[in-house]
Amino acid sequence: MTELINQADSDFDGLTLALSKGRILKETLPLLKNAGIELLEDPKESRKLIFPTTNPDVRVLILRASDVPTYVEHGAADVGVAGKDVLLEHGAKHVYELLDLQIAKCKLMTAGIKNAELPNRRLRIATKYVNVARAYFASRGQQVDIIKLYGAMELAPLVGLGDLIVDVVDTGNTLRANGLEPLEHICEVSSRLIVNQASYKRKFALLEPILDSFKQSVAG
Ligand code: AMP
Repeated sequence: MTELINQADSDFDGLTLALSKGRILKETLPLLKNAGIELLEDPKESRKLIFPTTNPDVRVLILRASDVPTYVEHGAADVGVAGKDVLLEHGAKHVYELLDLQIAKCKLMTAGIKNAELPNRRLRIATKYVNVARAYFASRGQQVDIIKLYGAMELAPLVGLGDLIVDVVDTGNTLRANGLEPLEHICEVSSRLIVNQASYKRKFALLEPILDSFKQSVAG
């Protein structure tokens, strides 16, 4: 019980790991298990945000994906697992990206209504990846208007909100189910292990065995 209280404490001086719900959490848990770390509660059954683990020196925060780099950058979490899409969008300049975990793979793509011709004017791009989209179209010398969305990007072109979207695509089924088609490939995405720069030095003794185990899992 003492361990549980300590791990939720703001004085906790172990390693705090930030994960996001969904695919990244699901695919990171086996890596953590290989490193001897298991959550003491099932996050699907709990509304908690801080999870103690079987390693009293390690606790896990479950966050919104786009918040993971922010927590790690500010040192509120020492380590995080975040998709390359999220890292590119965030900037994440002040964290070390130590390892490509090769999980939660997908692609960042443009997509539009199937077989539709694009209008002959400045295009409107609906996306939650505003920085990625701006940089991508700028790199092609194309001026576009970006419309910021927070979700369900596939809906936007269907109701005239934007000519194209920029989104992550895995199988492409979601696009197809909504009458859209993937168009241009922007980049490959997989999840990365990121570390706060001060924590990397100060907590290296705690971090090293986890990092080594993750590297072995990825290589295996
Ligand atoms: P899909 O229909 O397989 O192309 O993927 C459907 C949706 O799942 C996408 O629009 C994304 O919102 C989400 N998705 C798929 N793969 C990932 C991933 N690796 N990371 C984050 N979201 C993903």
